[in-house]
Amino acid sequence: MTNLYSDDHARTLDAADSLRDLRSEFLIPQHDGADQAYFVGNSLGLQPRGARAHVEEVLDKWAMEGVEGHFTGQAQWMPYHELVREPLARLVGAQPSEVVAMNTLTTNLHLMMVSFYRPTRERPAILIEAGAFPSDRHAVASQIAFHGFDPATDLIELEADEPNGTISMAAIERAIAEHGHRLALVLWPGVQYRTGQAFDLPAIVHLTHAQGAVCGFDLAHAIGNLELQLHDSGVDFAVWCHYKYLNSGPGAIAGCFVHERHAHSDRPRFAGWWGHEATTRFRMGPQFVPTPGAEGWQLSNPPILGLAPLRASLELFDRAGMAALRGKSRRLTGYLEALIGDRLTDTLQVVTPTEPERRGCQLSLRVTGGRGMTGRSAGRALFEYLAANGVLGDWREPDVIRISPAPLYNTHADVLRFARAVETWRNAA
Ligand SMILES: *Cc1c(COP(=O)(O)O)cnc(C)c1O
Repeated sequence: MTNLYSDDHARTLDAADSLRDLRSEFLIPQHDGADQAYFVGNSLGLQPRGARAHVEEVLDKWAMEGVEGHFTGQAQWMPYHELVREPLARLVGAQPSEVVAMNTLTTNLHLMMVSFYRPTRERPAILIEAGAFPSDRHAVASQIAFHGFDPATDLIELEADEPNGTISMAAIERAIAEHGHRLALVLWPGVQYRTGQAFDLPAIVHLTHAQGAVCGFDLAHAIGNLELQLHDSGVDFAVWCHYKYLNSGPGAIAGCFVHERHAHSDRPRFAGWWGHEATTRFRMGPQFVPTPGAEGWQLSNPPILGLAPLRASLELFDRAGMAALRGKSRRLTGYLEALIGDRLTDTLQVVTPTEPERRGCQLSLRVTGGRGMTGRSAGRALFEYLAANGVLGDWREPDVIRISPAPLYNTHADVLRFARAVETWRNAA
């Protein structure tokens, strides 16, 4: 029988990994002179080595050319956002005109709701998942109030119905059917940040549209993690950030998808000069004529220094291909799950669904006990022990450690290191 916990086993799995060379494209934080086992790509992805060169290129161009940098040479700033458009479109399964990098996630969510949340007295409601990321909840609640409606009645939060706090497709179906006549918008996560549960986007879109409502997604934890087909799924709009699995740096510029069917939308929008059609923008006329597609929602000229690291990251996603990355991700996370199942079930309970198609790379692990402690205190103690030993996950109150093996840079050896550290902690009573 294979010993899952042997170094040889992890080494063999890593040697068979066709994407193993990509790790060397990243700067891995160090701990006691060795690479950290870094499992927090769901919070801040690691720096691609190429990011510095792209940022320096912008700084150099600015130093040497000043304003001329907008119009001269390679990677000129005026069309700079086009450098990320096609790779982004490939990554999310969109047409290039359906995506744009701009602003930050929560800003884009508000801009999208300005256009796509149009409540009426008959249909004022928004459906989200209970326990949504606070920023999303603040955004939807404030939009509801902004339109003169009441979040207490018009923000519908679907409670988890499965034992681990996850939500069944049947529950989503029931909620959309029950509230359908009152729903203006369903805003759903691609992957829920706390549980790591992945959802069936096309099915949710289908159910929502059947009730005459709009369907938008927050893909903060899905982009660069799942294979997405936003266009074919019929998603109306989607927003995401680029600092998690997209490795584009703290506070990186965010992303936005608007389906082609809305490319020429005359829905209300908050407009800015950068959303005006590019060919006539510099006539500086008073009338707003939107660029067809997602770029028509831009407000300002984009931060070129913010786009530069995203270029470096997207080059790596293109090199690997999302299908291959997802394949590796299933194997890595499957290995993590197997290691827990083999020896650690008395300490860790996997909250995330076990079916690979219902999760991304992250496993949310509830700490059930250890070293004579229970719940929260055991969890905190284990989390701190791991960090002190160069194994970085993240902590979610009251008792969950999230571990997200990122297929671009994590290895089976990293995953084994995590499991061994948990075992050592537990055994040292
Ligand atoms: C990370 C994350 C955010 C963060 O929002 P910012 O506007 O980028 O600060 C919002 N929503 C979800 C679901 C997230 O995972």
